[in-house]
Formats: sequence, structure tokens, C-alpha cells
Amino acid sequence: MDLAFGVDLGGTKIEIVALDREGRELARRRVPTPREDYRATIETIARLIEEEEARLGARGTVGMGHPGAISPASGLVKNANSTWLNGRPLHTDLAARLGREVVLANDANCLALSEATDGAAAGARLVFAVILGTGVGGGIAVDGKVLDGANAIAGEWGHNPLPWPCAEELPGPRCWCGLDGCQETWLSGPGLAADHRRVTGQELSGPAIVARAEAGDPACRATLERYVGRLARGLAAVINLIDPEVVVVGGGLSRVPLIYEAVPQLWSRWIFSDRVVTRLVPARHGDSSGVRGAARLGRGDRGGAFSGNPGSAAAPVGRADPRARTRRNRA
Ligand SMILES: [Zn+2]
Repeated sequence: MDLAFGVDLGGTKIEIVALDREGRELARRRVPTPREDYRATIETIARLIEEEEARLGARGTVGMGHPGAISPASGLVKNANSTWLNGRPLHTDLAARLGREVVLANDANCLALSEATDGAAAGARLVFAVILGTGVGGGIAVDGKVLDGANAIAGEWGHNPLPWPCAEELPGPRCWCGLDGCQETWLSGPGLAADHRRVTGQELSGPAIVARAEAGDPACRATLERYVGRLARGLAAVINLIDPEVVVVGGGLSRVPLIYEAVPQLWSRWIFSDRVVTRLVPARHGDSSGVRGAARLGRGDRGGAFSGNPGSAAAPVGRADPRARTRRNRA
């Protein structure tokens, strides 16, 4: 049997899925993450996989999406909001425990791979996957494989500045990465809430703003319109650069139906083409795309994703500067 395990290691839950060659789910398990306990985290993942292997009577490949980043210098986890993982050789310890290679990738690359394989972007040659959630991330799949890039940051657009800004958008909110006006400060769920607060003085969560906008609240509708305009500009810049056939959206804000209608109506203004055929679609597998993409990674559909030894140049990592700009778990 051709068996591929995907692991989604999050701060509150560990999810595993087992896929066959056709992408059918043979198993799915979800357990709480043993918080603050690194050894127990490794053991929990390994045991879930071993239990399902015993039940299915086959051994599988393993790919894992995880918070934080792997330092290319040390091979250790850094900048994970699940802080007990930081400074640990997660990749090599899990590989040693399971006696096989474990392939790691960040959440946006897992989304891109999952959706390009059998999701909303199936059959497209060039796919840009966007996560609009607690943070903003992006990943690129080409011919069904993750494009990692020379610095392993291909597709990372969240910390580019918002393009074509108007006067009120400058310099933009201070970002945790140390720069001002990053797209993440505008396009994440917290960014949406902060924009609403700045303009109206009203303290509402992202989901509450969306719900009130859908119910007709004028101030919330205006906030959502500003959001849609910014997303259209951000994606227009991506289309001008890599010209994907499909832009697929995951994360909490992917559940706002308005964006799929309103953004493509606006983005042509900034796209350098007389005709725009790029499709903007929600992730078909929704929140499961991360764990499904991780399974695809382990099976080898991964392009240049991190599968080497600690110190591999292909390790997913942010900039090695004092601001420690790096990837975090964003969905
Ligand atoms: Zn930033």
C-alpha cells in the first residue's frame, strides 16, 4: 500500500492524516498537543503514526507542517509560538524516533501543495497560495511541486509593504518584524480589527466585523471594503510578478465570500495586462489543506522543501538579521 502520513503540529493540537496514492483519507486523528513538553510532543506524533500503521498494516512516508522555522545554521526550531519547541532539533529527533526521513515545511507551502494536487487549483501549472489568518503568508506551487527558492522564502509576501498606498496608509502600522506597513499588518485578521479600531474607535474582532458587515452595518462594511481594496492591490503585485493561473486562499479570512467576488473586480486596475484570467478561489480542503499538503511533502511532491540535514541551505527560514523576521504559524 502506498501510504503517506501528514502531520500538522500546532500549539494546541496535533493532527495526522494518512493518504493513499489517490489522496483518499485512510486515517485522521487529532489530539491535544502536550504543551511545554518537547519529548512528549515527539512521542505523541510517533505513537499516532505507529498506531495507524499497525491498523493499516503498512509503513508510510512522513511530512510535517510545524510552527516557527528551522534555523539553517543550527537545524534547530526557532520563533515558534509553541515555545517549548524552540532550540530543539525537532526534525532530526522525530526522524530518529520513527526511523525514517521526515520532511518539514511551513503552512503556506503545505496549502499550495495540497490545493495544487487535488484541491481548488488542481491541474494549474502555477499556483499562488495565500494564508489570511492570524498572520499572512504565501507559497508557490509549480507543476504540482513546492517552489522553495534560493533562500527558502519563495512566495513570502506578508512582510512586503502594501503596494500603491494612499496617503492615509503611510507609513502604516508597525509590524512585529520591525518594519512599518507590512501587508500582514493590513491583511491579517488582527490587521483587519486594528484598521476598524483606528477608523471607528470600535473594538471588534475580525470575525465580528465580517458578521456585522454581512448584516448591513455601514461602518463594518466600509472596513471590509478597505480590506478588499488592499487585498486586490497586494494580489495584483503578485500577479504582475509571477502571473499564476490560480490564487487559492486559506486561513480564517478565506471564509469571507465577498473577497472572491470583489477582489477580481478591482485587481485589473493594477495588473499590467489588458485581460486577466487568474482565478481567485477558496481552499477546497479548507483547514485540512495543511495536513494534506504535509502528507504530499513526505511522499516526495515537494520540490526543494527542507528534507536535508540540519544546516541544509533549503531549510525554511527567515532573514538572519537582528529583527529575526521569520515564518510563524499563521492560519
Ligand atoms: Zn512585517
